[in-house]
Amino acid sequence: MKVTDYFSASKGKTLISFEILPPLKGGSIKDIFNLLDPLMEFKPPFIDVTYHREEFVYNKHQSGYYEKTAIRKRPGTVGICAAIMNKYGVEAVPHLICGGFTREDTENALIDLDFLGIKNVLALRGDAMTFEEKFTPTPGGHKYALELVRHMAEMNAGKYLDPNIENGNKTDFCIGIAGYPEKHFEAPNMDFDLHYTEEKIKAGAAYIVTQMYFDNKKYFDYVASCRGLGIKAPIVPGIKPLTRRYQLASIPRKFFVNMPDDLVKEVNKSQTDEAMLEIGIEWSVAQCKELIKEGVPCIHFYTMGDVHTITRILKAIQ
Ligand code: FAD
Repeated sequence: MKVTDYFSASKGKTLISFEILPPLKGGSIKDIFNLLDPLMEFKPPFIDVTYHREEFVYNKHQSGYYEKTAIRKRPGTVGICAAIMNKYGVEAVPHLICGGFTREDTENALIDLDFLGIKNVLALRGDAMTFEEKFTPTPGGHKYALELVRHMAEMNAGKYLDPNIENGNKTDFCIGIAGYPEKHFEAPNMDFDLHYTEEKIKAGAAYIVTQMYFDNKKYFDYVASCRGLGIKAPIVPGIKPLTRRYQLASIPRKFFVNMPDDLVKEVNKSQTDEAMLEIGIEWSVAQCKELIKEGVPCIHFYTMGDVHTITRILKAIQ
């Protein structure tokens, strides 16, 4: 079933969904099941699985020279999606990025997803690789998520890259995209960013999942701006609890989001890691309660492997 069909069928009830990461290479699918088993009682209609492209690492040779090698530390996105659908009977949403893929690679990856019965895909550009200053598209690959969305929409219409393919199989992908309540860090301003969000929706994207944020006002303002542009697609808020003190600095640095003053003050007042965790949980609970009151279609949790914290939040908002 499509993610958007779940939103339509929920009759105003706020659904719960999760994002998980593939385990580091060398891990097992059991790591994923151990993470998800306790979360299944919250009946997520879908679970997102992130995609991680290759990263450069430097390996030291005996001679003293360093060799630059590209490795994928967290492969397995598609296999995990298939395993989740098979074991739990819920939809799995693979993230598909532009970086590292030629258009041909992208098309072939989408054909695999279609053949596996995976209907929902979050279409993203991806970030710069480690040691790269800015995102560089793969030669022959898509430069922006917008191009990826258009490619998927073409396949949904039965059109493939090869112009000789006539009456091609029409895929039926439900396309999700990323949204940034605090603006994507590269965009010169919010209007610019919103313009391309609107373009992605016009190109065929059906729903938006937001970047994590810690101030609900940012989300509500973002939704209002999107609606002002005529974007009617469901906008799913992404929630990540603060669980460690160092995240006050690391999350803004990595995700380009602000920490509200009240949250910073509370965290700085706390004396122990346990007290800090309680503050993070309370903050997320308050965010979720308000989102539910406002009737958001779904709350999407960035689990980052921390089932315990997510479970506590979910129990508190039931
Ligand atoms: P785009 O929509 O391409 O936008 C990138 C920038 O370019 C923006 O500043 C936008 O305003 C601008 N722009 C867009 N289109 C155009 C255009 N046609 N011309 C000029 N400018 C344009 N990364 C991963 O590697 N793997 C994941 O699994 C993953 N999952 C994510 C899930 C969510 C919910 C979110 C919010 C992010 C995720 N990311 C993931 C990170 C994402 O790849 C980065 O945020 C990336 O920098 C931008 O991706 P995008 O799809 O928003 O890009």
